[in-house]
Amino acid sequence: MINFNIPPYTGKETEYIKKAIENHKICGDGIFTKKCSEWLEENFHITKALLTTSCTHATEMAAILLNIKEGDEVIMPSYTFVSTADAFVTRGAKVVFVDIRPDTMNLDETLIEEAITEKTKVIVPVHYAGVSCEMDTIMQIAKKYNLAVVEDAAQAMMSTYKGKALGTIGDFGCISFHETKNYSMGEGGAIFIRDANDIERAEIIREKGTNRSKFFRGQIDKYTWVNVGSSYLPSDMNAAYLYAQLEIAEEINQNRLNSWNLYYKLLTPLEKEGKIALPIVPNECKQNGQWKVRFRFC
Ligand SMILES: *Cc1c(COP(=O)(O)O)cnc(C)c1O
Repeated sequence: MINFNIPPYTGKETEYIKKAIENHKICGDGIFTKKCSEWLEENFHITKALLTTSCTHATEMAAILLNIKEGDEVIMPSYTFVSTADAFVTRGAKVVFVDIRPDTMNLDETLIEEAITEKTKVIVPVHYAGVSCEMDTIMQIAKKYNLAVVEDAAQAMMSTYKGKALGTIGDFGCISFHETKNYSMGEGGAIFIRDANDIERAEIIREKGTNRSKFFRGQIDKYTWVNVGSSYLPSDMNAAYLYAQLEIAEEINQNRLNSWNLYYKLLTPLEKEGKIALPIVPNECKQNGQWKVRFRFC
C-alpha cells in the first residue's frame, strides 16, 4: 500500500508543546507563535506573516482586508480545493472559474483577461502541488486592471518562482499547515502581508475586530472593538508543534524532494509507453514535492 501522506514529525514537538504549557500561556500569540512568524518573515523575506487557524481562514482574512462584498467577482482556477472559493463566497462574492493549463494544471494565465469584468476585484492563483503559476503575467494583468492578487499557496511552502517564495508575490499569500501538507501544526495556516499598511487591520481582523495586539505591545492602555473581525489565532501549543518543523524546514523539504524524484524516475517508463503524463515543472519554478508525485492517466 502507498500512503497518501505521511505527516512530518521531527521528535521535538512534544518538548516544545511542554514548554508552551509551562509558560502558562497557551492562547494565541505566545512565544512559539512569535518564533514561527519571525522564521517565516526572515526566510521568505515577507513584510509580515501571521499564523492563523487554517489556510481557509487566512484566505477569509484576505477577503475581509480587500473589503470583498456582495456582487464582487473573484477569478480563480476551476481545479482547486473548496477553500479557495469558500473564503470569498462567505463574503458574498461571485466566483468566476477559469480553466487550467494542461502542463502545470495551474490557472491558465492566457484566459484571465477575457474573464475580467467591471465587477472583478481579485485574482486568486493556486500553486497546485507546490508548482508556481505564471506569476509575472498574472501580476501584470492585475496591475493593468487594478485588481488585487491573493495567492492560495496552501500547498506551496518552500516553493519559489524566479527565486521568490510563493505566497510573497501577491498582495496576500495564504499557507496551510494542515496535517496533509508538508509542514503541520494539526490544523493551521498563515497569511503573508506584503504592504506594511495592511498589517494593523490584519491584526484587528484576526483578534475579533479588536486592537488587542496593540494593547499587548503596550502601545495603548485599553483595548476595544474597532472593526469587523473574527477569531483567527491558533493556540501557542499548535505553534510549538509547527516550530519544531520550521527549525529543520530545509531537511524536511529535501526529504520530500528525494521521494518525489524517486517516484518520478520509477514512473518514467510508464510515461515513455504513453500510459501516463508526469508533472511538468517550468524552469523558473522550484517545487517542494508536495504530492510525492502527481500524474495524469492518458
Ligand atoms: C489544503 C488546501 C487549502 C485549505 O487549507 P486548510 O489549512 O485546511 O484550511 C486551501 N487551498 C488549497 C489549494 C489546499 O490544498
